Amino acid sequence: MNLQDFCQSLPKLELHAHLNGSLGTDTLKKLYKMQNPNSEDCENIITNVEKFSSLSECFKVFDVAHSLTVTPEAVFHSAYDVIEEFNADNVIYLELRSTPRAIDGQMSKQEYIEAIIKAFRLCKTDFPDILVKLLISINRKQGYKSAEENIDLAINFFKKYPQYIVGLDLSGDPMTGDAFLELLKKARIAGLKIAAHCAEISNEIETKDILEFKPDRLGHCTCVHPNLQGSNKLLDMLFTSKIPVELCLTSNVRCKTVPSYESHQFKYFYEAKHPICLCTDDKGIFHTSLSKEYAIASSTFGLGREELVTLSMLAVQYAFATAEEKSLLLSRIEGFSCETNK
Ligand SMILES: [Zn+2]
Repeated sequence: MNLQDFCQSLPKLELHAHLNGSLGTDTLKKLYKMQNPNSEDCENIITNVEKFSSLSECFKVFDVAHSLTVTPEAVFHSAYDVIEEFNADNVIYLELRSTPRAIDGQMSKQEYIEAIIKAFRLCKTDFPDILVKLLISINRKQGYKSAEENIDLAINFFKKYPQYIVGLDLSGDPMTGDAFLELLKKARIAGLKIAAHCAEISNEIETKDILEFKPDRLGHCTCVHPNLQGSNKLLDMLFTSKIPVELCLTSNVRCKTVPSYESHQFKYFYEAKHPICLCTDDKGIFHTSLSKEYAIASSTFGLGREELVTLSMLAVQYAFATAEEKSLLLSRIEGFSCETNK
Protein backbone atom coordinates (compact mmCIF):
# COMPACT_ATOMS: atom_id res chain seq x y z
CA MET A 1 0.00 0.00 0.00
CA ASN A 2 1.47 3.41 -0.89
CA LEU A 3 1.44 6.27 1.60
CA GLN A 4 -1.64 8.05 0.23
CA ASP A 5 -3.65 4.80 0.14
CA PHE A 6 -2.56 4.00 3.68
CA CYS A 7 -3.63 7.44 4.91
CA GLN A 8 -6.91 7.09 3.07
CA SER A 9 -7.67 3.68 4.62
CA LEU A 10 -6.65 4.75 8.12
CA PRO A 11 -9.77 5.52 10.23
CA LYS A 12 -9.37 9.18 11.21
CA LEU A 13 -10.95 11.86 13.39
CA GLU A 14 -11.55 15.38 12.11
CA LEU A 15 -11.79 17.86 14.98
CA HIS A 16 -11.43 21.22 13.18
CA ALA A 17 -13.61 21.69 10.09
CA HIS A 18 -15.67 24.78 9.27
CA LEU A 19 -18.84 23.88 7.40
CA ASN A 20 -18.76 26.63 4.76
CA GLY A 21 -15.02 26.32 4.10
CA SER A 22 -15.36 22.56 3.69
CA LEU A 23 -17.77 22.78 0.75
CA GLY A 24 -16.42 21.12 -2.37
CA THR A 25 -16.72 22.51 -5.88
CA ASP A 26 -19.61 20.18 -6.78
CA THR A 27 -21.64 21.35 -3.81
CA LEU A 28 -20.93 25.01 -4.59
CA LYS A 29 -22.13 24.43 -8.15
CA LYS A 30 -25.24 22.65 -6.92
CA LEU A 31 -26.07 25.47 -4.48
CA TYR A 32 -25.44 28.09 -7.15
CA LYS A 33 -27.89 26.37 -9.49
CA MET A 34 -30.46 26.05 -6.72
CA GLN A 35 -30.39 29.81 -6.24
CA ASN A 36 -29.87 30.89 -9.84
CA PRO A 37 -31.80 28.34 -11.90
CA ASN A 38 -31.61 30.49 -15.05
CA SER A 39 -28.01 31.66 -14.84
CA GLU A 40 -25.16 30.29 -16.96
CA ASP A 41 -22.40 31.92 -14.86
CA CYS A 42 -21.88 28.97 -12.56
CA GLU A 43 -18.78 27.51 -14.24
CA ASN A 44 -16.96 30.87 -14.32
CA ILE A 45 -17.65 31.67 -10.71
CA ILE A 46 -16.50 28.28 -9.48
CA THR A 47 -13.39 28.26 -11.71
CA ASN A 48 -12.35 31.65 -10.34
CA VAL A 49 -12.79 30.27 -6.86
CA GLU A 50 -10.38 27.44 -7.59
CA LYS A 51 -7.57 29.69 -8.73
CA PHE A 52 -6.98 31.80 -5.63
CA SER A 53 -3.37 32.32 -4.59
CA SER A 54 -3.39 34.75 -1.70
CA LEU A 55 -5.05 35.22 1.66
CA SER A 56 -7.34 38.00 0.47
CA GLU A 57 -8.50 35.88 -2.46
CA CYS A 58 -9.03 33.03 -0.05
CA PHE A 59 -11.50 35.21 1.87
CA LYS A 60 -13.37 35.81 -1.39
CA VAL A 61 -13.89 32.06 -1.55
CA PHE A 62 -15.46 32.19 1.89
CA ASP A 63 -17.72 34.95 0.57
CA VAL A 64 -18.85 32.77 -2.34
CA ALA A 65 -19.66 29.90 0.01
CA HIS A 66 -21.48 32.25 2.42
CA SER A 67 -23.49 33.83 -0.37
CA LEU A 68 -24.76 30.37 -1.34
CA THR A 69 -25.75 29.05 2.11
CA VAL A 70 -28.60 31.47 2.74
CA THR A 71 -31.61 29.14 3.07
CA PRO A 72 -32.24 26.17 5.37
CA GLU A 73 -32.34 23.94 2.28
CA ALA A 74 -28.88 25.11 1.14
CA VAL A 75 -27.47 24.65 4.66
CA PHE A 76 -28.96 21.15 4.81
CA HIS A 77 -27.38 20.17 1.46
CA SER A 78 -24.05 21.68 2.52
CA ALA A 79 -23.88 19.70 5.76
CA TYR A 80 -25.04 16.50 4.06
CA ASP A 81 -22.45 16.73 1.25
CA VAL A 82 -19.58 17.58 3.60
CA ILE A 83 -20.38 14.59 5.84
CA GLU A 84 -20.60 12.34 2.77
CA GLU A 85 -17.13 13.50 1.62
CA PHE A 86 -15.48 13.04 5.03
CA ASN A 87 -17.09 9.61 5.23
CA ALA A 88 -15.60 8.70 1.84
CA ASP A 89 -12.17 9.69 3.21
CA ASN A 90 -12.58 7.21 6.10
CA VAL A 91 -13.18 9.87 8.70
CA ILE A 92 -15.03 7.96 11.43
CA TYR A 93 -15.67 10.95 13.68
CA LEU A 94 -16.32 14.50 12.51
CA GLU A 95 -16.80 17.67 14.52
CA LEU A 96 -18.17 20.32 12.20
CA ARG A 97 -18.25 23.93 13.33
CA SER A 98 -20.34 26.76 11.97
CA THR A 99 -21.55 30.25 12.85
CA PRO A 100 -25.37 30.33 12.79
CA ARG A 101 -26.59 32.91 10.31
CA ALA A 102 -29.83 34.83 10.02
CA ILE A 103 -30.80 36.00 6.53
CA ASP A 104 -33.62 38.53 6.34
CA GLY A 105 -36.84 36.89 5.27
CA GLN A 106 -35.13 33.58 4.47
CA MET A 107 -33.67 31.98 7.57
CA SER A 108 -33.25 32.51 11.31
CA LYS A 109 -30.22 31.37 13.32
CA GLN A 110 -32.41 28.64 14.85
CA GLU A 111 -33.39 27.41 11.38
CA TYR A 112 -29.73 27.40 10.35
CA ILE A 113 -28.86 25.05 13.22
CA GLU A 114 -31.98 22.92 12.71
CA ALA A 115 -31.01 22.45 9.04
CA ILE A 116 -27.62 21.07 10.09
CA ILE A 117 -29.24 18.75 12.66
CA LYS A 118 -31.61 17.51 9.95
CA ALA A 119 -28.60 16.60 7.79
CA PHE A 120 -26.92 14.87 10.78
CA ARG A 121 -30.04 12.74 11.30
CA LEU A 122 -30.27 11.65 7.68
CA CYS A 123 -26.52 10.94 7.52
CA LYS A 124 -26.83 8.68 10.54
CA THR A 125 -28.87 6.37 8.32
CA ASP A 126 -27.10 7.00 5.01
CA PHE A 127 -23.52 6.92 6.37
CA PRO A 128 -23.61 4.85 9.57
CA ASP A 129 -19.78 4.61 9.74
CA ILE A 130 -19.25 8.27 10.62
CA LEU A 131 -20.22 9.87 13.92
CA VAL A 132 -20.90 13.61 13.60
CA LYS A 133 -21.08 16.45 16.15
CA LEU A 134 -21.52 20.20 15.91
CA LEU A 135 -19.71 23.10 17.53
CA ILE A 136 -21.56 26.41 17.36
CA SER A 137 -19.11 29.12 16.35
CA ILE A 138 -18.76 32.65 17.59
CA ASN A 139 -17.33 34.89 14.91
CA ARG A 140 -15.36 37.51 16.85
CA LYS A 141 -15.81 40.01 14.04
CA GLN A 142 -19.60 40.01 14.54
CA GLY A 143 -19.38 41.59 17.99
CA TYR A 144 -20.68 41.04 21.51
CA LYS A 145 -24.41 40.87 20.82
CA SER A 146 -24.05 38.21 18.16
CA ALA A 147 -21.63 36.24 20.36
CA GLU A 148 -24.12 36.33 23.23
CA GLU A 149 -26.95 35.20 20.93
CA ASN A 150 -24.90 32.29 19.62
CA ILE A 151 -23.93 31.19 23.12
CA ASP A 152 -27.57 31.23 24.25
CA LEU A 153 -28.53 29.27 21.13
CA ALA A 154 -25.76 26.75 21.75
CA ILE A 155 -26.90 26.25 25.36
CA ASN A 156 -30.53 25.74 24.30
CA PHE A 157 -29.67 23.38 21.45
CA PHE A 158 -27.29 21.47 23.72
CA LYS A 159 -30.20 20.79 26.07
CA LYS A 160 -32.35 19.64 23.17
CA TYR A 161 -29.77 17.64 21.19
CA PRO A 162 -26.90 16.69 23.53
CA GLN A 163 -25.94 13.87 21.14
CA TYR A 164 -25.17 16.40 18.37
CA ILE A 165 -24.31 19.78 19.93
CA VAL A 166 -21.17 19.41 21.99
CA GLY A 167 -19.38 22.71 22.17
CA LEU A 168 -18.54 26.23 21.18
CA ASP A 169 -15.86 27.45 18.83
CA LEU A 170 -14.26 30.86 18.97
CA SER A 171 -13.20 31.86 15.47
CA GLY A 172 -13.21 34.65 12.87
CA ASP A 173 -10.63 37.14 11.73
CA PRO A 174 -8.06 37.32 14.56
CA MET A 175 -7.22 40.90 13.60
CA THR A 176 -10.65 42.12 14.66
CA GLY A 177 -12.93 41.89 17.68
CA ASP A 178 -12.61 40.31 21.05
CA ALA A 179 -12.17 36.78 22.38
CA PHE A 180 -15.32 37.12 24.59
CA LEU A 181 -13.85 34.94 27.31
CA GLU A 182 -16.39 36.12 29.91
CA LEU A 183 -19.21 34.93 27.67
CA LEU A 184 -17.50 31.62 27.04
CA LYS A 185 -17.56 30.98 30.79
CA LYS A 186 -21.33 30.87 30.67
CA ALA A 187 -21.22 28.16 27.99
CA ARG A 188 -18.68 26.18 29.98
CA ILE A 189 -20.85 26.29 33.10
CA ALA A 190 -23.76 24.97 31.01
CA GLY A 191 -21.62 21.93 30.11
CA LEU A 192 -20.43 22.83 26.63
CA LYS A 193 -16.84 22.16 25.58
CA ILE A 194 -14.79 25.07 24.29
CA ALA A 195 -12.47 25.09 21.27
CA ALA A 196 -10.71 28.38 20.60
CA HIS A 197 -8.65 29.57 17.64
CA CYS A 198 -5.49 30.81 19.29
CA ALA A 199 -2.38 32.74 18.20
CA GLU A 200 -3.11 32.70 14.46
CA ILE A 201 -1.35 36.05 14.45
CA SER A 202 1.17 37.37 16.93
CA ASN A 203 -0.75 38.71 19.95
CA GLU A 204 0.98 37.92 23.23
CA ILE A 205 -1.65 39.42 25.55
CA GLU A 206 -4.63 37.71 23.95
CA THR A 207 -2.81 34.39 23.60
CA LYS A 208 -1.98 34.55 27.31
CA ASP A 209 -5.62 35.33 28.17
CA ILE A 210 -6.87 32.41 26.08
CA LEU A 211 -4.35 29.99 27.58
CA GLU A 212 -5.29 31.12 31.09
CA PHE A 213 -8.96 30.52 30.27
CA LYS A 214 -7.99 26.90 29.49
CA PRO A 215 -10.25 25.95 26.59
CA ASP A 216 -10.72 22.22 26.06
CA ARG A 217 -8.88 22.46 22.72
CA LEU A 218 -6.96 25.13 20.84
CA GLY A 219 -6.84 25.79 17.10
CA HIS A 220 -3.50 26.45 15.34
CA CYS A 221 -1.33 28.07 18.08
CA THR A 222 0.90 29.31 15.26
CA CYS A 223 2.53 32.33 16.91
CA VAL A 224 3.46 30.59 20.15
CA HIS A 225 6.94 29.22 19.44
CA PRO A 226 9.69 31.90 19.51
CA ASN A 227 10.70 30.94 15.93
CA LEU A 228 7.16 31.77 14.74
CA GLN A 229 6.66 35.18 16.36
CA GLY A 230 5.77 33.76 19.77
CA SER A 231 7.90 33.68 22.90
CA ASN A 232 9.43 31.20 25.34
CA LYS A 233 6.91 32.36 27.91
CA LEU A 234 3.94 31.50 25.68
CA LEU A 235 5.46 28.18 24.67
CA ASP A 236 6.00 27.27 28.35
CA MET A 237 2.42 28.20 29.14
CA LEU A 238 1.08 26.08 26.28
CA PHE A 239 3.21 23.04 27.10
CA THR A 240 2.38 23.25 30.80
CA SER A 241 -1.35 23.53 30.01
CA LYS A 242 -1.31 20.23 28.05
CA ILE A 243 -4.31 21.54 26.07
CA PRO A 244 -4.61 19.62 22.78
CA VAL A 245 -3.91 21.69 19.66
CA GLU A 246 -5.70 21.21 16.33
CA LEU A 247 -3.08 21.59 13.59
CA CYS A 248 -4.03 22.40 10.01
CA LEU A 249 -0.87 22.17 7.87
CA THR A 250 -2.16 23.11 4.42
CA SER A 251 -4.44 25.84 5.71
CA ASN A 252 -1.54 27.58 7.48
CA VAL A 253 0.79 27.24 4.49
CA ARG A 254 -1.79 28.50 1.98
CA CYS A 255 -2.85 31.41 4.21
CA LYS A 256 0.87 32.09 4.65
CA THR A 257 0.78 32.23 8.44
CA VAL A 258 3.78 29.85 8.21
CA PRO A 259 6.29 30.05 5.35
CA SER A 260 6.36 26.31 4.52
CA TYR A 261 5.31 22.86 5.68
CA GLU A 262 8.82 22.28 7.04
CA SER A 263 8.64 25.32 9.32
CA HIS A 264 5.15 24.51 10.64
CA GLN A 265 4.71 24.45 14.44
CA PHE A 266 3.83 20.74 14.11
CA LYS A 267 7.49 19.82 14.49
CA TYR A 268 7.95 21.67 17.80
CA PHE A 269 4.75 20.33 19.35
CA TYR A 270 5.32 16.80 18.09
CA GLU A 271 8.90 16.66 19.37
CA ALA A 272 7.76 17.95 22.76
CA LYS A 273 5.02 15.27 22.81
CA HIS A 274 2.41 17.97 23.29
CA PRO A 275 -1.10 16.65 22.48
CA ILE A 276 -1.95 17.44 18.85
CA CYS A 277 -4.33 16.30 16.14
CA LEU A 278 -4.23 16.82 12.39
CA CYS A 279 -7.20 18.64 10.87
CA THR A 280 -8.24 20.22 7.57
CA ASP A 281 -9.78 23.58 8.68
CA ASP A 282 -11.40 24.32 5.27
CA LYS A 283 -10.89 21.36 2.97
CA GLY A 284 -12.93 22.92 0.15
CA ILE A 285 -11.00 26.16 0.06
CA PHE A 286 -7.58 24.57 0.42
CA HIS A 287 -8.28 21.56 -1.82
CA THR A 288 -7.20 19.10 0.80
CA SER A 289 -8.57 16.13 2.70
CA LEU A 290 -7.71 14.66 6.07
CA SER A 291 -5.87 11.76 4.41
CA LYS A 292 -3.78 14.27 2.42
CA GLU A 293 -2.89 16.07 5.66
CA TYR A 294 -1.72 12.77 7.21
CA ALA A 295 0.37 12.04 4.12
CA ILE A 296 1.91 15.54 4.20
CA ALA A 297 2.75 15.18 7.91
CA SER A 298 4.35 11.81 7.17
CA SER A 299 6.49 12.98 4.25
CA THR A 300 7.43 16.35 5.78
CA PHE A 301 8.28 15.21 9.30
CA GLY A 302 9.30 11.62 8.60
CA LEU A 303 6.46 9.92 10.47
CA GLY A 304 6.17 6.17 9.96
CA ARG A 305 2.86 4.35 9.58
CA GLU A 306 2.72 3.32 13.24
CA GLU A 307 3.14 6.94 14.23
CA LEU A 308 0.25 7.91 11.94
CA VAL A 309 -1.95 5.27 13.58
CA THR A 310 -0.90 6.62 16.99
CA LEU A 311 -1.80 10.18 15.93
CA SER A 312 -5.26 9.02 14.95
CA MET A 313 -5.69 7.07 18.19
CA LEU A 314 -4.63 10.03 20.31
CA ALA A 315 -7.18 12.24 18.57
CA VAL A 316 -9.87 10.02 20.13
CA GLN A 317 -8.88 11.31 23.57
CA TYR A 318 -9.31 14.92 22.46
CA ALA A 319 -12.72 14.45 20.81
CA PHE A 320 -15.82 15.93 22.44
CA ALA A 321 -17.48 12.51 22.42
CA THR A 322 -18.80 10.34 25.26
CA ALA A 323 -16.62 7.66 26.89
CA GLU A 324 -18.67 4.97 25.19
CA GLU A 325 -18.28 6.59 21.76
CA LYS A 326 -14.54 6.98 22.32
CA SER A 327 -14.08 3.33 23.13
CA LEU A 328 -15.89 2.34 19.92
CA LEU A 329 -13.77 4.75 17.85
CA LEU A 330 -10.59 3.43 19.41
CA SER A 331 -11.50 -0.19 18.71
CA ARG A 332 -12.05 0.65 15.03
CA ILE A 333 -8.59 2.18 14.71
CA GLU A 334 -7.07 -0.76 16.62
CA GLY A 335 -8.89 -3.14 14.25
CA PHE A 336 -7.36 -1.36 11.25
CA SER A 337 -3.93 -1.46 12.84
CA CYS A 338 -4.10 -5.23 13.51
CA GLU A 339 -5.38 -5.84 9.98
CA THR A 340 -2.56 -3.90 8.29
CA ASN A 341 0.13 -5.51 10.49
CA LYS A 342 -0.87 -9.04 9.48
ZN1 LIG B 1 -10.35 27.31 11.71
